[in-house]
Amino acid sequence: MSDSTAETLVLRRGRLHDPANGVDGATGDLWIRDGRIVEPQPKADREVDLDGLVVMPGGIDLHSHVAGPKVAVGRRMQRPAADGCPDAVPTIHATGRLYAALGYTTVFDAAIATAAAPLAHLELAELPVLDKGIFLLAADDDEVVRSLAAGSADEVARLIADRVQASRAWAVKVANPGGNRFWKAGRRGDHRDLEEPLPGLSLTGREMLSRLAQAVADLKLPHRLHVHTINLGLPGNWRTTLSTMQAFDGLPAHLAHIQFHSYTGGDADETTFGSGVEPLAAWFNDHPELSLDVGQVLFGSTMAMTGDALAAEHLAAVTGVPWSAHDGFLEGGCGILPVTYREKSLVHAWQWAVGLEWFLSVNDPWRIALSTDHPNGAHFTAYPTLMRLLGDEAFRREAFERIHPAVRRNSPLAGFTREYTLNELAIITRAAPARLAGLPQKGHLGVGADADIAVYRPDADLSRMFAMPARVYKAGVLVAEDGQLRCSVPGGVLAARSG
Ligand SMILES: [Zn+2]
Repeated sequence: MSDSTAETLVLRRGRLHDPANGVDGATGDLWIRDGRIVEPQPKADREVDLDGLVVMPGGIDLHSHVAGPKVAVGRRMQRPAADGCPDAVPTIHATGRLYAALGYTTVFDAAIATAAAPLAHLELAELPVLDKGIFLLAADDDEVVRSLAAGSADEVARLIADRVQASRAWAVKVANPGGNRFWKAGRRGDHRDLEEPLPGLSLTGREMLSRLAQAVADLKLPHRLHVHTINLGLPGNWRTTLSTMQAFDGLPAHLAHIQFHSYTGGDADETTFGSGVEPLAAWFNDHPELSLDVGQVLFGSTMAMTGDALAAEHLAAVTGVPWSAHDGFLEGGCGILPVTYREKSLVHAWQWAVGLEWFLSVNDPWRIALSTDHPNGAHFTAYPTLMRLLGDEAFRREAFERIHPAVRRNSPLAGFTREYTLNELAIITRAAPARLAGLPQKGHLGVGADADIAVYRPDADLSRMFAMPARVYKAGVLVAEDGQLRCSVPGGVLAARSG
């Protein structure tokens, strides 16, 4: 290949956005050798002039679904894509190509069952360009659940370390703690609370969450416990989301796709369906041990897929669409169904507004990662649109004017004038996910960092700017140019070592 990493490359005069190193648009050179950013060298083998172009670390997707059995089923279920639109669930090769062309260089699949891990790795080995890791649904494992109930912290940690090693996982994920057990015991899409014991066990959802978070902390895994809590998508679920945040009691935890867990309404609530963000964001802002990704909904057609079979069954029942469910060796389960988010749908408009309200309510961008929970809220290729919604208030207001009138009247979103700066956008798409994932060599442009770099043409239209980077480098190799893949390097597997 032409871009040999053995040579010394210098990228000259880029406008660097490197928030991890306190750099906000200063002009500078980046020296690259052996796939890493290095100190300035006496001479370069090759120079590239980036005069006036915006330079950021490569994007890092902390929460996506790109491999494994449910993604494969999602591919089979999707209708033919509209002209020019990527499939809701692209093939593994197209997934890598599209991410790389977008300036993303690392992705985590956020829900892989223990039994599915070997196959998921085989599939991910085919994902070009990006470094990749999996978050393991270790708490679906029967032996792990029994040890959580028995309450021996050492035994829980030992079993989790064993599962993480055997599955070559990066992190531990819990999806609807205990949900699959309730589902198999005949409980369907009704509300639970975290104090309810799991059927047949002396273990509540709250105990499950706090004991798992403790085990992950004891094992010093790179990423804190990754949590998809109970009651996903249900009206009034903001209350159980608040209980979830409180359950960690100072332990680090990451709350996944918080948008789907932030609604008022339902029987237990005196208000109608709407936004429960305000009290949740107040708690979150006061508790620096917590982090989150949003799971933003954007309007259009996509595919919902979740390890939370109970939530998928409920969604299929209320929408009436055909769905697929499967179990993972009788321990976990998951559900997959197509969904089209519409501006004029009351519920979809609320979901869109609730997600944006979250982004604009979190004070510390270092604790929030941009995600659409691909493909659940929207396809990852819609990230540039989401970045424009965050960085361009006029654009957001225009979009707001098109949504369901009841949401326009009642959503607090109308009162937000905040616009994300380029550095803040760089934080939530690269620097923060790198830090939260526990990847010190990624998400920044300092000496020693992996030379994963995205170069953009400055543009007042942020969605156009972020949709097509001029150049993307992976480990110092030019992999994409103007939306086209130039070189398909393999990318590495991120597997954690515990202890
Ligand atoms: Zn997810």
